[in-house]
Amino acid sequence: MIDLKQKLAEREALHLYRRRRTIDGPQGPEQLVDGKKVLSFCSNDYLGLANHPEIVAAFKKGADTYGVGSGAAHLVNGHSSAHHALEEELAAFVQRPRVLLFSTGYMANLGAVAALVGTGDAVFEDRLNHASLLDAGLLSRARLARYEHVSIDSLTNKLADSKAKEKLVVTDGVFSMDGDIAPLPELTAVAQQHDALLMVDDAHALGVLGPQGRGSAAHFGLGVAEVPVLMATLGKGVGTFGAFVAGSEELIEWLIQAARPYIYTTATPPAVAEATRASLKIIEGDEWRREKLQTLIKRFRSGAAQIGLELMDSQTPIQPLLIGEADRAVALSRRLEAEGIVISAIRPPTVPEGTARLRITFSANHSEAQVDRLLAALESCG
Ligand SMILES: *Cc1c(COP(=O)(O)O)cnc(C)c1O
Repeated sequence: MIDLKQKLAEREALHLYRRRRTIDGPQGPEQLVDGKKVLSFCSNDYLGLANHPEIVAAFKKGADTYGVGSGAAHLVNGHSSAHHALEEELAAFVQRPRVLLFSTGYMANLGAVAALVGTGDAVFEDRLNHASLLDAGLLSRARLARYEHVSIDSLTNKLADSKAKEKLVVTDGVFSMDGDIAPLPELTAVAQQHDALLMVDDAHALGVLGPQGRGSAAHFGLGVAEVPVLMATLGKGVGTFGAFVAGSEELIEWLIQAARPYIYTTATPPAVAEATRASLKIIEGDEWRREKLQTLIKRFRSGAAQIGLELMDSQTPIQPLLIGEADRAVALSRRLEAEGIVISAIRPPTVPEGTARLRITFSANHSEAQVDRLLAALESCG
């Protein structure tokens, strides 16, 4: 019999046991966590939009118009005019012919990868790709090859060795646990040379990178010809919920036919789509949010250098502090929490063995004084 007690005890002994904190009230730099007021630096709400009054108002108005539940999958009768309008607005935003909404980013990745490749094909993934992309590769039944992190040489070798019928190269646009930006121009070139399709997961870049926050492809000036499959989530920088895949007319029509996590799931509430539409307008207009993030990142990085903290090479709001062993990362996270600062420790298998870290993230709603408070706490706890 499966001995769950034993399995749980093993996790605990390895300092890999995961526990949830309970949040009261909305996302924001200051939060009520397990009943205590704290300063938090671990949300993916980079632009500070998860509790924006205009987005909340659009959500309420959407609920008045459409009710709460969508009632069914998109292909049955759950595809509302709110979803449809959002798809069109997202397509314009990411400058692609068409967009398909998915209920979550995890599902978008499973759906897209498994619809594009299968038995006899191969999928090439950066070693540090998000878990959902790796799971997508496994689910697809294509041969899964993982290349060294951002290594064009490693990818080139694996592509050259492959005898697969169809090839799909998949990368995070901004790596979720490291914060570095994928070398998309080089990846584009290698993929094209080897007749492979390129897919980019922009979960951590949409709203944050590129002109008006249009994402990592736009950051490098790459259009649909260079990045034919662009996926992003709406629950991070956009501040709402859901995800999408953007690309050609044919790509989207094919996903509607073949992406099982699209077909066999209930559409998200239309009111969420209305909230996302409001958020997109703010993202396009509020350049100050991206500028503010850059100010906070600079302040944090120079302050960290002064107190001798070693940061990873990241220009994005994800600024991990590499610790190493899981128990030390957990201990530091606990000491910070005692000082009223919440940053969760990220441990294997989310990150490779021996690279446990505190994944510090910034939001446009953090103040410079709050960054200073974080630096002071890191100095006194470290
Ligand atoms: C969060 C994340 C996802 C999953 O998106 P959800 O909408 O939260 O399911 C996919 N890819 C990356 C890189 C992510 O960080």
